[in-house]
Amino acid sequence: MTDQRLPQRVNQQDEPIAAPAITELDSETVDRIAAGEVVERPASVAKELLENSLDAGAERISVTVEDAGKALIRVSDDGVGMTRDAVLKAIDRHTTSKLRSIADLEAGIETLGFRGEALHTIAAVSRMTIETRPHGGSSSGTIVTIEGGTVTDVAPTGCPPGTTIRVADLFYNTPARKSFLRSSTTEFDHINRMVANYALANPSVAIALTHDDREIFSAPGRGDLRGTVGAVYSHDVASAMIDIQSSDTEGPLSTISGLVSDPETTRSRPRYLSTFINGRYVRSGALRDAVIEAYGGQLAADRYPFAVLFCAIPPDEIDVNVHPRKLEVRFESTDAVKSQLSEVVRSSLLEHGLIRTTAPRGRGTPEETVLDVDSTAGDSARGGSSSPVTPNPPRSTASTDRSKQATPNTSASIRARPEQETVDGSTGTPAFDQLPSLDILGQLDETFIVAQFNDGLLLIDQHAADERIHFERLQEQFTTDATRQSLVTPVTLSVTADEAAAFDRVREALDAVGFTAELLDDQTIEVRAVPAVIDTTVNPDRLRDAIASAIETAAASNAIEAAADAIIGDLACYPAVTGHTALTDGSMVSLLETLDACENPYACPHGRPVLIRIDYAELRDRFERDYPGHVDRREERDR
Ligand code: ADP
Ligand code: MG
Repeated sequence: MTDQRLPQRVNQQDEPIAAPAITELDSETVDRIAAGEVVERPASVAKELLENSLDAGAERISVTVEDAGKALIRVSDDGVGMTRDAVLKAIDRHTTSKLRSIADLEAGIETLGFRGEALHTIAAVSRMTIETRPHGGSSSGTIVTIEGGTVTDVAPTGCPPGTTIRVADLFYNTPARKSFLRSSTTEFDHINRMVANYALANPSVAIALTHDDREIFSAPGRGDLRGTVGAVYSHDVASAMIDIQSSDTEGPLSTISGLVSDPETTRSRPRYLSTFINGRYVRSGALRDAVIEAYGGQLAADRYPFAVLFCAIPPDEIDVNVHPRKLEVRFESTDAVKSQLSEVVRSSLLEHGLIRTTAPRGRGTPEETVLDVDSTAGDSARGGSSSPVTPNPPRSTASTDRSKQATPNTSASIRARPEQETVDGSTGTPAFDQLPSLDILGQLDETFIVAQFNDGLLLIDQHAADERIHFERLQEQFTTDATRQSLVTPVTLSVTADEAAAFDRVREALDAVGFTAELLDDQTIEVRAVPAVIDTTVNPDRLRDAIASAIETAAASNAIEAAADAIIGDLACYPAVTGHTALTDGSMVSLLETLDACENPYACPHGRPVLIRIDYAELRDRFERDYPGHVDRREERDR
């Protein structure tokens, strides 16, 4: 019998490797691993420090960041401050002045923090200094320096009462975590939104935010919410806000108060819709939907109001522990909360005469812009280019469920129709490249062109069609003619702090299409010259809207081309054929012919549909012509 030895793991020198020994991790490693879970990004550090300052009863707090907090986050306050002993204790793990036992926790916590881990954790993954001094008395200041969790220096210092914490080189000793950080734009965006929400939630604390030596905003801290909104967003927004105040309403919320904007003062994203539950910022789809619902049909599709709403709710009606860091909340009775909030906001809007009738919101969703005509025919006529491209990609996502349901036509299914007489007796089937062959039946409400095509009924919004045509014409002109002309009177427009922050990126887009614009201060942009192709008499309001939407687009997508398109898109709206204009048959045909020649005839520059099709199948379905035994003559004919 041979000696059967168990296979053994060996190293390169053919020496056996010992089984790995189980050892206890040193506390430094444990801290760094834990830190990665607690501190996600610069904004979470800034949030913890800001909460500590608020807990310390500060009246003024300044948050200063460099390179979106990646290089430096400094939070300075005039709160209670700490003695030398207290500060050394504060940086240990699980040390807090805010909670003594589980009994305190169960009795309800008034402070924002209580776990006693933030300072310790942040210190483990950065180079931190804490300068602090208690108010009054003989206590002098202390400065503590901590490098990657190790206290390297403690010294007395002369500093004003309060606390200043500097967090430099975040994640310098956890490179993997550091590599997860997003662009400075994104990281700063998180900080900006977070600090703005704390400023809004604490109008009597003067909270200021500075980024790379530029003041983003500085809330006055006078206790009035409107003043804070003015500082954080803009004075224009503040003056467009109406008061919401209700203490005795039916429902789970015990009080609702705050401000919402009039239906005209909106943005394309819901980020300026802030809701707070019992003083804490929460992200809640239910609350947001409730606010939007309150406007009935008064908001344009895909527009969101500004709102700062505080709701108080008894603790047994909510579960805030869904995720302590994700700011989520679960209600006992979501529907009741929703309808209560909606009702309160609606009645305030009504009282101010800001809403009238109700109409469904957002009917013209971009997915309806898809018209499945035979694109192969169009493509070959255009020299084999790909299917129609949309200049506004974020808003014209064609691959939705709805578009998948529609069966794409094969070229065989679009047959030449026998020439047919139209309503007015004229004949003619305009030959189209992209649009299907169609017969114009007439104009409806002097707004829509009604036509029939092989598969059913086609409705064309004449204004949207003309906008699209004008948009593509302008696009062409902008790219071929870069000359600009000075405005006699420069146009100024007011913007929110983060729109101002996005301006640097938009400036390039503006410049590329012929605008000369400068940032005057953190809330104002001045336009001095416009592209030569724009009429100099262009209404300043229109210009303001165009540039504002470009800034918004750039802030959202970071894409220069999208920003330029947003400007052109808004200006294209100007001379477009409006609704309620009688069109002759000839002008309907030429409008459709020009539309057909567009790169993308299916959506207006704002993403609304130009055409809506109602297929025979849908008509049959709606007239319930599908009962058993019934034979549709058209179906029969088609067979
Ligand atoms: P927590 O906030 O959960 O108590 P932290 O680690 O954030 O835990 O802070 C630990 C302690 O340090 C706090 O309980 C508080 O006593 C003290 N502290 C932190 N920041 C400040 C500040 N800005 N001013 C005064 N005391 C502070
Ligand atoms: Mg804390």
